[in-house]
Amino acid sequence: MHVSMAPDMNPAADGLLQIDLDAVVANYEAIVRQAAPAQVGGVVKADAYGLGAREISHALMAAGCRHFFVAHLLEAVELKSSLAPECFVYVLNGLAPGTEPLCAKLGAVPVLNSLDQLTRWAALAMSQRSQLPAVIQVDSGMSRLGLPANEIAVLLKQPHRLDWIKLVLIMSHLACADDPDAPSNASQEAAFLQVAEQFPHVPRSLDNSAGAFLRKPDHHDLVRPGIALFGGAPQFAHPNMMRPVVSLEAKIVQVREIPAGARVGYGLDFTAFQSSRIATIGIGYGDGWLRHLGRCGGAFIAGIRVPIAGRVSMDSITLDVSHVPEKHLQPGAPVELIGPHQTIDDVAADANTISYEILTRLGRRFHRRYLPAANRPTPLGGRA
Ligand SMILES: *Cc1c(COP(=O)(O)O)cnc(C)c1O
Repeated sequence: MHVSMAPDMNPAADGLLQIDLDAVVANYEAIVRQAAPAQVGGVVKADAYGLGAREISHALMAAGCRHFFVAHLLEAVELKSSLAPECFVYVLNGLAPGTEPLCAKLGAVPVLNSLDQLTRWAALAMSQRSQLPAVIQVDSGMSRLGLPANEIAVLLKQPHRLDWIKLVLIMSHLACADDPDAPSNASQEAAFLQVAEQFPHVPRSLDNSAGAFLRKPDHHDLVRPGIALFGGAPQFAHPNMMRPVVSLEAKIVQVREIPAGARVGYGLDFTAFQSSRIATIGIGYGDGWLRHLGRCGGAFIAGIRVPIAGRVSMDSITLDVSHVPEKHLQPGAPVELIGPHQTIDDVAADANTISYEILTRLGRRFHRRYLPAANRPTPLGGRA
């Protein structure tokens, strides 16, 4: 899918961010096959991991996806109107005090993370004399969000608390699903099921991307992948079977020859030990290329790895291109930052972080191009 600086690119932009919606759909379908008979939703929080919640959601919707997860109510506000009315938008971070009427008016489904949230949602429903839909999240051991065991116990003793609530899903979240050997995977699932069994008619959801690829008998009723849709490796121990979604290309701004002993960039952090050639590209930490990559990151020119020389600036990076033939080093020539030679997981490893952070930081100064999803038959559901 690598396309070099196509002529229709906005010439005023220094970088081209290409997002392959066909790959998103292919990844969605791969997860559908993997998780069957469970249904598969799409996690599109943080603007679909920086890739554009609206565009990603539309592609997923056309592939049959009906369940969308965001983190903030604000994200639901921005997304809801562009989805088909039969789609559900769930707000993972829960129901903040004072937002109940807005959430209800919007038709978003809050993930209730505490008894207090549940009580406020039920009170609004009662005042309107009509049930409101909700998800209950169980804290099965991650201690982040969800009803802890003592609040679950209260709820089970006082089921009338749910009289005004239509439970559409009961969910929890795995802390270590990317590590198949972590004992918490089984203990969290057991704790989750113990609660879920008290609500026998309510659909269940536990697995994120990594969970969907854990070898286990049951993926429950609804899987909630994010990163795997966007091409990130769901399990580090296995080869990544997801199709890459993102490519990022910069162009060379200028090239200079420097003598041995010359130094490069802020802090004069890099010293050339022999005469070298340095290329500057117009992408920096202001575009999400982490400053930390100055010590260990690189890029590719015509398939040749070029290490970052010196620190990452806000708007530019200097690359040691001494080994690249000159014909590839003209101003405007393409430089691969994410693509066939360097995946988002590679960049994340260089930066000592995870692909999620690389994606969600990608800046707003790129020319963004979406490659459309091919019209393909879908294994589940119809087209929107
Ligand atoms: C972000 C998130 C997901 C998606 O996780 P991935 O690892 O990107 O698949 C699923 N569930 C919850 C509760 C989340 O916060």
